[in-house]
Amino acid sequence: MIHKLKIRTSSPQEFKDITFLVEEVVRKEGVKEGVVTIFVPHTTAAVTINENYDPSVVEDILRYLEKIIPTQGDYTHLEGNAHAHIKASIIGSSRQVLVEESRLNLGTWQGIFFCEFDGPRVREVWITIR
Ligand code: ZN
Repeated sequence: MIHKLKIRTSSPQEFKDITFLVEEVVRKEGVKEGVVTIFVPHTTAAVTINENYDPSVVEDILRYLEKIIPTQGDYTHLEGNAHAHIKASIIGSSRQVLVEESRLNLGTWQGIFFCEFDGPRVREVWITIR
């Protein structure tokens, strides 16, 4: 079963912690051991895993992505969101996490983030456990 969750983002660019949403799916499925796949079906959004303890970490990631790939640039794609496509490609559209003893087996400081690069909008995240 694929769980298709709606995510509402509130800024043009933001990292939204969705760890609890993924944990909820693991609980609902009652899986003891397996692999969770988190997939983002968009071309200007992504998913990543990084520190969710100190919020300055994701602020820095966003700030430096913006330095490397600025919102305004000499792009060929004329929708005005070329930067978002590039950022989404660099970060990637899926991640996997292991489930052990019915829990997400993340590192102590790790969280799962939905990465919005062309918001705010209502987005989707697809989650499946195998
Ligand atoms: Zn576009």
